Amino acid sequence: MPQIPTLSTAAQIAVKLIRRESITPEDGGCQNYIESLLAPLGFVRTNVDAGGIVNSIYTRKGELKGALAFAGHTDVVPTGPLADWPHPPFDAVIEDGPGGNLLHGRGAQDMKGGIACWIAAVSSLCAGFTPLPTLQLLITSDEEGDSIDGTIRIVEKMQADHTLPDAVIVGEPSSSRQVGDVIRRGRRGVVQASIAFEGKQGHSAYPDDAVNAVHMAAPVLDKITRIDWGDATEGFPPTTCQITNLQAGTGAVNVIPGTCFAGVDIRYNPGITFEGIEKLIFEACDGANVILDIQHQAEVFSTPDGPFLDQVCASIRHVSGIETVRDTGGGTSDGRFLAAAGVPVVELGLTNSTIHQVGECVALHELDSLTSIYADIINNFEV
Ligand SMILES: [Zn+2]
Repeated sequence: MPQIPTLSTAAQIAVKLIRRESITPEDGGCQNYIESLLAPLGFVRTNVDAGGIVNSIYTRKGELKGALAFAGHTDVVPTGPLADWPHPPFDAVIEDGPGGNLLHGRGAQDMKGGIACWIAAVSSLCAGFTPLPTLQLLITSDEEGDSIDGTIRIVEKMQADHTLPDAVIVGEPSSSRQVGDVIRRGRRGVVQASIAFEGKQGHSAYPDDAVNAVHMAAPVLDKITRIDWGDATEGFPPTTCQITNLQAGTGAVNVIPGTCFAGVDIRYNPGITFEGIEKLIFEACDGANVILDIQHQAEVFSTPDGPFLDQVCASIRHVSGIETVRDTGGGTSDGRFLAAAGVPVVELGLTNSTIHQVGECVALHELDSLTSIYADIINNFEV
């Protein structure tokens, strides 16, 4: 039997969080457990529950100027078939693996492990006599689902109370191969459109009496996929557009379809605005009989180079000796709600090699690295 080492504080917390089953939007008792860890350190919990979602702000008033927040979520994505898992997803089994000891379970990387590291870092710092900035933890159970009543409600509460932090670390698993090799300093925005083409159903042998909605849709969708969205702002992937849904026809090949629905998903770069995208889609649909619904699902955001980003990278270099890539790839994240409120946002967390997968797991040494990096960031935080 391989030897399982004495667990670090972060690993112990991660185990207990994983064992609290919290498939989105459930919290599964995670936040009460988090409160039990933070209250003895001087944190006060403010509930911002909304629409059945558990949202909390934990605040510890600091001796130093400035407030640094950590944002995260306790909810996890569903497991899929349990039989496919090497270990039950909520048992938090630790076993020897190729990269050292592995902690298995849903949420190990995304992102109970990250929350555990921040709490472990805070615990060690609060136990010392070093003066600290004000620390806040912003935790929701609605990140993996609709994100309608999650972090956005926390941000609204903080805006109303004038308690927004000076900067925030979002603990999403940003890292690629090694903890800290990649941080996210922004994300592209999201625009989604649904287009209903309205024709007239009929017999395929009598096309003069019908209007084929698929024939209407084809040139318009072709135009949409060829739109020139303009030059990409440096530091961001270019704007991309995907037709993600297409529905038409009754199933019978001798019936001309009277309607055709298309779904379009656009990830946009700061080189274009929502209004600019709307205009280009309208132009592509011009002349066709369509009902168009365009929604701005997520704002683009970006934290400019500056002291906060520099300091996060310096802490990673100090602890791990690696140079960090300041990235803006991937989908959107809850960081957008804080960025929209004017708070500098950096996403820094564990590696993301098994997130949302069967067999999600994290190497225990990664938890140690991230805890040390977080502690270094808190220790050196300045406004
Ligand atoms: Zn996540």
